[in-house]
Amino acid sequence: MRVGMPHMGNVYIPFKALFQRLNVDLVIPPVNNQRTLSLGVRYSPEGLCIPFKLTLGNLIEATELGADTLIMPAGYGTCRLGYYAKTQEQILRELGHNFEMIQVGISEQKLFGILGMIKRLSNNASWYKIISAFRFGIAKLNALDRIEQVVHKVRPLERIKGTANRLFVKAVKAIDEVDDYSTLKKVQRDYIDQLNQVPKDTETPPLIVGITGEFYVVLEPFSNLDVESELGKLGVEVRRTTFVSEWTKFSLFLNPLGMDEKDRIHKAAQPYLKRDIGGDGWESVGEKVLHAKKYDGLVHLAPFTCMPEIIAQNIMTSTKETIPVLTILCDEQLAKPGMLTRLEAFVDLLERKRRISNNNR
Ligand code: SF4
Repeated sequence: MRVGMPHMGNVYIPFKALFQRLNVDLVIPPVNNQRTLSLGVRYSPEGLCIPFKLTLGNLIEATELGADTLIMPAGYGTCRLGYYAKTQEQILRELGHNFEMIQVGISEQKLFGILGMIKRLSNNASWYKIISAFRFGIAKLNALDRIEQVVHKVRPLERIKGTANRLFVKAVKAIDEVDDYSTLKKVQRDYIDQLNQVPKDTETPPLIVGITGEFYVVLEPFSNLDVESELGKLGVEVRRTTFVSEWTKFSLFLNPLGMDEKDRIHKAAQPYLKRDIGGDGWESVGEKVLHAKKYDGLVHLAPFTCMPEIIAQNIMTSTKETIPVLTILCDEQLAKPGMLTRLEAFVDLLERKRRISNNNR
């Protein structure tokens, strides 16, 4: 059995570690690139959202590399995510690929859905082996996210632009290669130290911009044309509202303290939106309300034709908690020059706003 799965940021690294420990043959398709997108666009219904198109491209590339068992998240929901796996399976079969599709119902089965899927793929490995491999995967995920959070802080201040990105690429590679907890801890510490030592200009505090929106386009840099890095080059510190490690904590496990971050966000959205509208639309509204006082601005990432984020976008313009919001619609038509022009104009606006508010103090 050769298992293939789609990409979403660096999530393949924890899965690779987990499956390696269980002797499951994982086929990792090339990281998202123009070919992946072209394949996805060519074989998807035109109006579908970019997460569908890119993940379809990944699955096609995985089958080309010999994967015969494909994993796709599935589950109930108010948006199209629930139909992704079924539709992609049909498209792949029409293209002549032979495989088994395993759908993982994350929203309803949570952790048990993932563990059950691993049990099946690992040829009924013992629970002890599965849990210990899973824990190691989670440790890698946490290390990746901790380092990335530091990268977000260093990027806007670094004297030589690109230094934090270069260190991050090396850190990702090093984390991918380690095979035990103590080396993993050491790698994490070393790279955070190196990032902290990067020469910085600290005279002016950077603008703080929150990144919110649909889960996939927030977490997959290829789909948002690396918006976080581009903002960093413009001297902006980004605060991403979602990290996979945090999502795992709140969505897969029961929160032991009973303080569910999602509840807090939903509560904040309540005056404007009372219920789940699918995807991450409810959270986008709540995050705007919750962070309006903390951030200088918000970049809202929404896949083109994504119904939940279209609803959120329209509500966000009229909340009483005011903070400038730039919505970027992500699809195959999004081009870097257009996005950069909009980011530059947005950052200009935020700088002027900050100057005016400093002068009025
Ligand atoms: S939330 Fe939006 S982009 Fe994501 S699957 Fe649903 S419709 Fe598509």
